[in-house]
Amino acid sequence: MTARVLVVDDLLPNLKLLEAKLTSEYFQVSVASSGDEALALLQSEPPDIVLLDVMMPGMDGFEVCHRIKSDPKTTHIPVVMVTALSETADRVRGLEAGADDFLTKPVDDRALFARVRSLVRLKMTIDEWRLREQTSEHFGVMEGSLGLIDESAKEANVLIVEDREIYARRFAEILSVEGHDCVTAATIEGAIEQLRSREFDLAIVDLKLRDEDALMFCSQVRSSDDLRNLPLLVIAEESEVSQLATAMDLGCNDYVVRPVDRNELLARCRTQIRRHRYQIRLRDNYEKSLQLALTDSLTGLYNRRYLEAHLSGLMDRIAGGRRYLSVMMLDIDYFKNINDTHGHAAGDDVLRELCERVMANVRSFDTVARYGGEEFVVVMPETDIAVASAVAERLRHNIADLPFKSAAADTQFKVTISIGVAEVDMDGDSTDALLRRADEALYGAKGAGRNQVMIWEKDGLRPVETSVTDAVAQL
Ligand code: GH3
Ligand code: MG
Ligand code: MG
Repeated sequence: MTARVLVVDDLLPNLKLLEAKLTSEYFQVSVASSGDEALALLQSEPPDIVLLDVMMPGMDGFEVCHRIKSDPKTTHIPVVMVTALSETADRVRGLEAGADDFLTKPVDDRALFARVRSLVRLKMTIDEWRLREQTSEHFGVMEGSLGLIDESAKEANVLIVEDREIYARRFAEILSVEGHDCVTAATIEGAIEQLRSREFDLAIVDLKLRDEDALMFCSQVRSSDDLRNLPLLVIAEESEVSQLATAMDLGCNDYVVRPVDRNELLARCRTQIRRHRYQIRLRDNYEKSLQLALTDSLTGLYNRRYLEAHLSGLMDRIAGGRRYLSVMMLDIDYFKNINDTHGHAAGDDVLRELCERVMANVRSFDTVARYGGEEFVVVMPETDIAVASAVAERLRHNIADLPFKSAAADTQFKVTISIGVAEVDMDGDSTDALLRRADEALYGAKGAGRNQVMIWEKDGLRPVETSVTDAVAQL
């Protein structure tokens, strides 16, 4: 795995040392010698991870970290503080500023690479969700997201995997100040069972279980689809360096070394819980936006929001060129009567069948959307008004000529539609204006007696010519 690493330190020898170490492991390294320079680089070429010195003249590392984490654009980039300070209070301060981890100078190679790899892996998952979120934002269905640091880290569900009751109780007691709900499991099997029974924000795992291999638990969690994203925080003895390295390689997110410092444990838990909740929020937003942006649950068609975003993209693309684009807007005639006579379920059947028939009557690259209750829009790229009108007339025929079946009402009946057709104005147009013209034509068709196609033209509405109907057969 390779990644872009930004190293920030005011002292050149420190920069050079870290740069050399990372480059030898094939990381791509860029360097900054001050907070300001680092922040500028973060904007212009965002890295996958930042290694940040704490003591710097001007803006110190805490401040830089805080700024990175407060900016929605950079909030997801992991920050590792590299510090000569070994006081727990300083580490806690860094974690509070949003740092993801700490390395103590002189930097131990194994710790460095383990941390960088584990954080970069995590970031890649988050990147994927962020990308989808941006796409949804582009559709205009989602607001920009908050920063990671705005996420609450309180009242989380925490699983403690610990077979010595005295420790389990102490962890639970420490975590209770944040309002966390702690559950203890004394065996791996029990732990997995717990994880499957409800949602957890974090699992704390004692690396030294008496009868079982805690690493086995970590590996089970990481390799299972439904638990893969659960943050794992390992509690280790100073002497367990090699197991700890394995744990990090397996994908554990962080560790605390015994004797466990209360504030450090709290701060590290907060970081993990926040990150997890942030990730869940990105995923939920995405799923919600997909639903909002793309689908109508009854017909499976695109809905109005999607259509408008899509059409606007199409129109941007053809602006300035002499490219055709037409839309038709169609509406079921006297649909209310169908509902009233045969019931709402029969009405739903009609909507579904209509949707199938419309889809079957247009090309695969035309977009069909359910625009309102019983109103549909078809967007036809590369189609002039004459062809669009012919397609509309063919569709109108198809609907009117073949009766609709309703399983719900166990019957069949005649359904007709009215259609308005409009073409993009090459001298300048907008999505709203184009749809408004199609709507105007549709209303014209209704007013003229329904079951017909009306075309919007600059000098007024015009009914589709019946001669067109003949041409339609050749389409
Ligand atoms: P017009 O010929 O002027 O279009 O008359 P209409 O009765 O079709 O139009 P109107 O706008 O008065 O009524 C539309 C009806 O469509 C009212 C509403 O209850 C019904 N409708 C909207 N969405 C659905 C739906 O999802 N399922 C069903 N069954 N009916 C729906
Ligand atoms: Mg109607
Ligand atoms: Mg209507």
